[in-house]
Amino acid sequence: MHMDLVAALDIGGTKIAGALVDREGRILLRAQRPTPAHEDGDTVMRAAEEVLGELTSSGLWGRASAVGIGSAGPVDASAGTVSPVNVPGWRGYPLVERVRAVTGGLPVELVGDGVAMTAAEHWQGAARGHDNALCLVVSTGVGGGLVLGGKLHPGPTGNAGHIGHISVDLDGDPCPCGARGCVERIASGPNIARRAVESGWLPGPDGDTSAAAVADAARAGDPLAIASFERAAKALAAGIAATATLVEIDIAVIGGGVGKAGDVLFTPLRRCLREYATLSFVRDLTVAPALMGTDAGLVGAAAAALSGGARGGASGEASGAVGGAVGGAVTAGVNGAVGVR
Ligand SMILES: [Zn+2]
Repeated sequence: MHMDLVAALDIGGTKIAGALVDREGRILLRAQRPTPAHEDGDTVMRAAEEVLGELTSSGLWGRASAVGIGSAGPVDASAGTVSPVNVPGWRGYPLVERVRAVTGGLPVELVGDGVAMTAAEHWQGAARGHDNALCLVVSTGVGGGLVLGGKLHPGPTGNAGHIGHISVDLDGDPCPCGARGCVERIASGPNIARRAVESGWLPGPDGDTSAAAVADAARAGDPLAIASFERAAKALAAGIAATATLVEIDIAVIGGGVGKAGDVLFTPLRRCLREYATLSFVRDLTVAPALMGTDAGLVGAAAAALSGGARGGASGEASGAVGGAVGGAVTAGVNGAVGVR
């Protein structure tokens, strides 16, 4: 059997998605369950096992050589555990061990969801061809990941690049993480909406006070809605400029629901970036919207699985298949994204 596929698992607060993915990043089979986020840990795991069960019972399963997991964080890749903020039943939960148990002992690679999205954008999306990139997920929270020197840089625990909890406002609002003035506290969707409402912005007749509704109002010229997006853009620009100054990235890719706001976000973001990224070596920094959409988590988890196999986690035919994928011209991005740790 030619082991040319990897299994991918994308674990979030609302859904658990799984897929079998080929070496070009194509999704051949999908499965999904809602996350029973407020149930106990074993109930949440059963939902994940149902997703994996649909994959392992497929005729394609024999071609899978490794499993990649992208999970809502924090994760601890060195311990194989996850503690997703929005899934209280999982605290230090031994997800890697449990997944290995139901997938026949295949090698399992765990990364945070921001790192997974970064791997996907670097492999096939907006960061393709960039050796030094920061990718951000701006939605309910603000996460991210780094590509440095052509390789994904997850850090020892799989959380590096978590730009949402860099402080950009020294005496700013307290953040649930315990710090103050974090990027997330200003630029996440709920905080964009909160700031707009607190400043006096009134929603339309449908009463929608989501960040998407604020974006619509900003596009229509509402000054309070515009001001909230400008403030978010400023926080993101300060965090991105700090990152670029530290590690010399040349592109920042913005995904997540807020990233879909378009010019309402990107126009002030580009302007603010010129104000904060001023030194010669960061002046050419660009920002771009993410390209991978809702499959970024699965494709990124697949990239992580390929990297795990490439490090020798797989054996025999499996490592041959992974080696082929990593060496293949088509997956030049993966070649960069992998070889992780
Ligand atoms: Zn914080």
